[in-house]
Amino acid sequence: ELGSAANGIAEQLSGLIHALSCWQRIESLLQGPIDSSTDAPALPKPVGEPISRVSLSDVSFSYAGDRLDLDGVSLETPLPRRIALVGPSGSGKSTVLNLMSRTYDAISGGIAFDGIDIRDLDSRALKSAIAMVNQDNTLFDGSIRYNIRLGRLSAGDTEVEQAARTAEIHDFILSLPQGYDTEVGEGGRLLSGGQRQRIVIARAILRDPQILLLDEATASLDAEAEVAISRTLAHIGARRTVLSVTHRLASCPAMDLICVFRNGRLAETGTHDELLQRRGTYHDLWEKQSQIEIAESGKGADITL
Ligand code: ATP
Repeated sequence: ELGSAANGIAEQLSGLIHALSCWQRIESLLQGPIDSSTDAPALPKPVGEPISRVSLSDVSFSYAGDRLDLDGVSLETPLPRRIALVGPSGSGKSTVLNLMSRTYDAISGGIAFDGIDIRDLDSRALKSAIAMVNQDNTLFDGSIRYNIRLGRLSAGDTEVEQAARTAEIHDFILSLPQGYDTEVGEGGRLLSGGQRQRIVIARAILRDPQILLLDEATASLDAEAEVAISRTLAHIGARRTVLSVTHRLASCPAMDLICVFRNGRLAETGTHDELLQRRGTYHDLWEKQSQIEIAESGKGADITL
């Protein structure tokens, strides 16, 4: 009897092993060719050192296959840079970030970091090189320290605090009676929008990414908080490439490069001053936003006087 029980177990085990190997095959197929190659190069630079050149060469992409959501976008960014992606809704800004993080792959053209196509890079190394901050990042029920540490679970308290300093939230945290042990409440409801966003940014900084992708990271903030966070990002951008998708243009004057998208195409690139002089799409967006801000701040009347 014991023998037949052992046989039964052996059979079940072999079935399980078979199922597991099938599953592994399916998973590797789903993950595509990048994971099946063991000799994919790691990142061009060790994690922690800035990637010095990000380039998009004639990149096109389509979500549904019926039209191009990105149409022949080319961009070369030498040195760590702070880059703003602006333009009307649906013009392709977030899609650029989706392709850089390899959430999707371009249908033609390519993206390279320091000259190496990102499809040839080791996928895990790529993931650790990039951090994305968007509206989906949330705080979890737990302490501030816990929420920042989620960026890198092995980080010590000093590293957590250093990340908070860089995100300019350290002093605020220390001013709380419980400091880093303060509970944030579900979804961070005990904090303001700006404080929550800084904690999310500190979490991203703790990962020490070479490239920081921000998708409307400051959309929920008021204008003052947005300018303050933009200053923080300018500081962070000294060591990293920061690509920031934003509807509000207030942060653009501090950026090294502004990319203006229109209908999936890169319509203009330049600094704030260059683009204002060109009197194109950016100029129009800037004028429109300034008018709205003036009207909202109640100073509109001064202008008509
Ligand atoms: P917004 O400022 O509104 O966020 P955006 O400039 O970031 O817009 P994208 O999100 O890049 O624009 O979208 C570009 C185009 O692709 C739009 O027409 C959009 O409808 C479409 N699109 C975006 N995401 C998807 C998706 N997951 N599936 C299908 N189409 C999509």
